[in-house]
Amino acid sequence: KRLILIGPPGSGKGTQSPIIKDEYCLCHLATGDMLRAAVAAKTPLGIKAKEAMDKGELVSDDLVVGIIDEALKKPSCQKGFILDGFPRTVVQAEKLDVMLQNRGTKVDKVLNFAIDDAILEERITGRWIHPASGRSYHTKFAPPKVPGTDDVTGEPLIQRKDDTAAVLKSRLEAFHRQTEPVIDYYAKKGNVVNLPAEKPPQAVTAEVKTALS
Ligand code: ADP
Ligand code: ADP
Ligand code: ADP
Repeated sequence: KRLILIGPPGSGKGTQSPIIKDEYCLCHLATGDMLRAAVAAKTPLGIKAKEAMDKGELVSDDLVVGIIDEALKKPSCQKGFILDGFPRTVVQAEKLDVMLQNRGTKVDKVLNFAIDDAILEERITGRWIHPASGRSYHTKFAPPKVPGTDDVTGEPLIQRKDDTAAVLKSRLEAFHRQTEPVIDYYAKKGNVVNLPAEKPPQAVTAEVKTALS
């Protein structure tokens, strides 16, 4: 399957992705994870992306489209993929359509993680991540077995620099202004499924499985 996950920061995209990936053998491409890795490695791409990310603004369409175009060439992404956090603007969605047309494929389904803004601050400020895998935990909703430590590798967890109430505000503004039109873009094509993302993680997983069955 070729899937897109759309939702505001903290809506649960990263939490559901590994489950979808395991179940349907897909490749998981999270532009946020890839950009953070580039920033940490101080690559030319990371240096260009850092300022916008720190402020909670979107990085340029050309940068992220380039990353996705490259990543879709991976052998593991030939039979299907999950795009998590991409496309985030209508321009990105249009460019993705062209990329997929050139490869003779198209998007099967868009999962829209629908959730009220009011819930997101608690989710974001309590989030801890394992940078190498992208796995996320939450101090209250999904605590690791050992506080501050990844369950799988035992490595330390970190808090993202942009996971503050202040930066969340800009990220939500960007979501409403630039990314919500992407949902309409796909809704017109008729392949959007709305998920009740306010439910507990297991309930959201069940809804995802129904949507994909
Ligand atoms: P979230 O956890 O809030 O959904 P991500 O990890 O997906 O956030 O993204 C973190 C940051 O990376 C964004 O605030 C933005 O600056 C940048 N970013 C990620 N994906 C994109 C994209 N498709 N287009 C532009 N910027 C992006
Ligand atoms: P996104 O990738 O959409 O930004 P995450 O999956 O990282 O969001 O989730 C944000 C935070 O909320 C994480 O700390 C995660 O553990 C927690 N979380 C994810 N899904 C739920 C849920 N359904 N209920 C409560 N907390 C959740
Ligand atoms: P592949 O499908 O080629 O094996 P990877 O599993 O290495 O790809 O990961 C692809 C992208 O997904 C990377 O950006 C990585 O950071 C991210 N990722 C991997 N595992 C998880 C996870 N459990 N949760 C969130 N993101 C993840």
